[in-house]
Amino acid sequence: MNAKTELLEARDLTRFYEVSQGPFKPHAVVKALDGVTFSVATGKTLAVVGESGCGKSTLARQVTMIERPTSGQLQFDGFDLVKASNQQLKEARQRVQMVFQNPYGSLNPRKKVGSIIGEPLVINTALSKSEREEQVRSMMGLVGLRPEYYGRYPHMFSGGQRQRIAIARALMLRPKLVVADEPVSALDVSVQAQVLNLLMDLQHELNLAYLLISHDLSVVRHIADDVMVMYLGKVAEYGESEQVFRNPRHPYTRALLASTPHLKPQNRQEHIVLKGEIPSPLAPPAGCVFHTRCPYANERCRTEVPQLRKLDDGRQTACHGIEEGRV
Ligand code: SF4
Repeated sequence: MNAKTELLEARDLTRFYEVSQGPFKPHAVVKALDGVTFSVATGKTLAVVGESGCGKSTLARQVTMIERPTSGQLQFDGFDLVKASNQQLKEARQRVQMVFQNPYGSLNPRKKVGSIIGEPLVINTALSKSEREEQVRSMMGLVGLRPEYYGRYPHMFSGGQRQRIAIARALMLRPKLVVADEPVSALDVSVQAQVLNLLMDLQHELNLAYLLISHDLSVVRHIADDVMVMYLGKVAEYGESEQVFRNPRHPYTRALLASTPHLKPQNRQEHIVLKGEIPSPLAPPAGCVFHTRCPYANERCRTEVPQLRKLDDGRQTACHGIEEGRV
């Protein structure tokens, strides 16, 4: 969160969905993303964390331009993604690629690895077959896949190798930003670290920025520069990863960390046990959306929405309790 070259900047980003409630009833509005502001610098990693339903997948869909935001600003590498023409979006899309959770599901089982990795070049460039093959082989080397694997099929590979194939394909157009949606959660624990290390090596080598979507805080700690904790479409806490993990401030961040046994914060804060489910986004609680599960909730929390404020150490939190000095 220091001064850096920002590649992606979102300001007050919202994405609302209208949901049918049945015949003769008015549509309900789900605020899947509700006024989110963040940035990702070139060569850096922002992790977005929270339980399912917190808005992280919606965020990924806006950044990868699968959907347009309802309102707010979203700038990426000189493009205004809210106002961009379809032609501009097409251009911008080549610079943002995605790596998915399930590497097998995203690879066509009938195609050989070489043609899977080279597919983006067929669609987006005028390179000859031999030029494509040369680039694919060089990318395979970069992600740690042996050249003789070029003619093999996806089912012949382990989960970790399949994710390497998916990463190679995502990097073929030399994107500036990779949105990685739970990139290692489908893998055996033993290979998770290898793939994470690969992602970090590639980041240094290619100056890539990552938007990492994850529910696994131990993965986040390993790789992220900054962390944004989300709850029901809103930002609860946003700051440098080191700072947030060492000394989480927002009660929701503290609860998430307390539920990850080997990531206990260094300070001796009271443990918060997360009880109950995340409320339905169709009927979010009034005031602070976390108040139904927060042990520090008071009357103000139940009625007044807390705004995101910068603390002395530079991180931001949205919590009346922190502001009042009682959390
Ligand atoms: Fe808890 Fe209130 Fe802070 Fe929300 S605003 S996290 S309810 S103390």
